[in-house]
Amino acid sequence: MREFARAFYQSRAWKDCREAYRKSVGGLCESCLAAGIYTPGKVVHHRQPLTPDNIHDPAVTLAWSNLKLVCQDCHAKEHKARDRYRFGPDGSIRPG
Ligand SMILES: [Zn+2]
Ligand SMILES: [Zn+2]
Repeated sequence: MREFARAFYQSRAWKDCREAYRKSVGGLCESCLAAGIYTPGKVVHHRQPLTPDNIHDPAVTLAWSNLKLVCQDCHAKEHKARDRYRFGPDGSIRPG
């Protein structure tokens, strides 16, 4: 996990937001679902990447419009195109 985001990912606000969002989309990977495949979602991904500049802005970090529930495979794909971070077994981001 990127250091600047550590406190955010451990915050109650994020954990509550993440679980509420997961329930709101029915717990399925949104990318797989778009292709007609039912896969349990594992990771709540931020569409707009978190940065040291926006990490304290709830309109970015906690806005459902900026979230996407995905499975591990789809999460890797989301990031592969975008940055060079790797993922831990729980889907958390680790410097790669
Ligand atoms: Zn998926
Ligand atoms: Zn992500």
